[in-house]
Amino acid sequence: MLDYNASVLLIYTGGTIGMIEDAETGALKSFNFNYLTEFVPELKRLKFKIDSIQFKIPIDSSDMNPEKWKKLVWIIEDNYEKYDGFVILHGTDTMAYSASALSFMLENLNKPVILTGSQLPIGKIRTDGKENLITALEIAVDKNANGKAFVTEVCVFFQNILMRGNRTTKINAANFRAFNSFNFPILAEAGTQIRYQHELMHRPLKNSTPKFHNLLDTNVTIIKLFPGISPQILNAMIAIPGLKAIVLETYGAGNAPTEKWFLEIIAEAVKNGIIVVNVTQCASGSVDMSRYESGRALKEIGVLSGYDITTEAAVAKLMFLFGLGLDRKEVKMYMKMSLVGEITIE
Ligand code: ASP
Repeated sequence: MLDYNASVLLIYTGGTIGMIEDAETGALKSFNFNYLTEFVPELKRLKFKIDSIQFKIPIDSSDMNPEKWKKLVWIIEDNYEKYDGFVILHGTDTMAYSASALSFMLENLNKPVILTGSQLPIGKIRTDGKENLITALEIAVDKNANGKAFVTEVCVFFQNILMRGNRTTKINAANFRAFNSFNFPILAEAGTQIRYQHELMHRPLKNSTPKFHNLLDTNVTIIKLFPGISPQILNAMIAIPGLKAIVLETYGAGNAPTEKWFLEIIAEAVKNGIIVVNVTQCASGSVDMSRYESGRALKEIGVLSGYDITTEAAVAKLMFLFGLGLDRKEVKMYMKMSLVGEITIE
């Protein structure tokens, strides 16, 4: 049910969606967001209130970083009571990382926070941006008959599907279906009507109030395995001063080389207190370190299973947990649990 007294805060960070083509050069440039309705006149026909706020300098999402995530949290915290929902316009390149980070930083949400963007600028006739923007806005104010929001988590809405933010991955640099949620079903589909999977929605704890976290610890890295990875490379990476955690992107069901040098270096990292989380390079499926000898060896030296978590969510979760000031033992404990539906533990 759309609530016509509702209001949404539209937060524009940058990305393709907010661009137009320079008439002379054909190059893409950001437009002044205050003129959004010139490009999307349909917005005037939406019956609810839309306010907007924008980053002073719109960014390509390749420039997104933890400082800017904190800024987004701060904007939402500051405006939380005033709006029924929030839509964040964001470049697609790092949207899955931002959605993951915000899912941890915005705890106990009871309102929707929807990230969306587009593959073609809003100023292009064939843009996918209008559709994404308009439906994301509608989802942001959608409520049940008791006035409760249907969506109470951080989501990505793209080409008709609403996904849990921390389950998304960008899968295509050109196609309008730019995101997928491989390991978790979609939360809603927009056709002639928006059909929600209410039972799948993450809900805030009973009697809880939202908590806004803005401390992140960036002493985290990703190591992607590839045939030919050398001791020099691995040693250099684990020697990074201050490093607290590694997201180790392994093969298949969580497999890695069984060579002695490899296991010794990883074991050394674990011994030095670095948390190593095993995440698969496969788009879909889960880590199971007991399936193959090559996975079992990792388990024995103290590597944690990331189960079916995405790399994006694993990195964000580690930054968040260390940002809370937790010690290594606590971080390990929370990495084995689902905090906001980011992981399926079998
Ligand atoms: N490079 C752009 C960005 O991520 C791509 C996009 O918006 O789709 O900001």
